[in-house]
Amino acid sequence: MTCFEAQSMITPFINEQLDIKQLEQFLEHIERCKECKEEVEVYFTLFSGMKQLDENKTISNKFHIDLDNFIQKQEDNILEVKFKLVCTKIVLILIMVVLGLWIG
Ligand SMILES: [Zn+2]
Repeated sequence: MTCFEAQSMITPFINEQLDIKQLEQFLEHIERCKECKEEVEVYFTLFSGMKQLDENKTISNKFHIDLDNFIQKQEDNILEVKFKLVCTKIVLILIMVVLGLWIG
């Protein structure tokens, strides 16, 4: 993924609109690319600031921690989706084995 691609995904990332594959590539990129990570931090700060204004909350100055939490949550989501995919595959294989036994 190029920096240009990554930066075009920042808004959908913050709005949790990326699909798992995009999300994975995006997180991989910002792990390695300091420039894009900084860009994400700026956007994230802006977005959470606006959100908090909307919700009439006092503005937190712990944006860094919030972003780290957010990224962690996204990574957990990826793991969860992958785990479900593996489970689905195992179930499918089991069904095929059982069917195979039943037919044979
Ligand atoms: Zn980059």
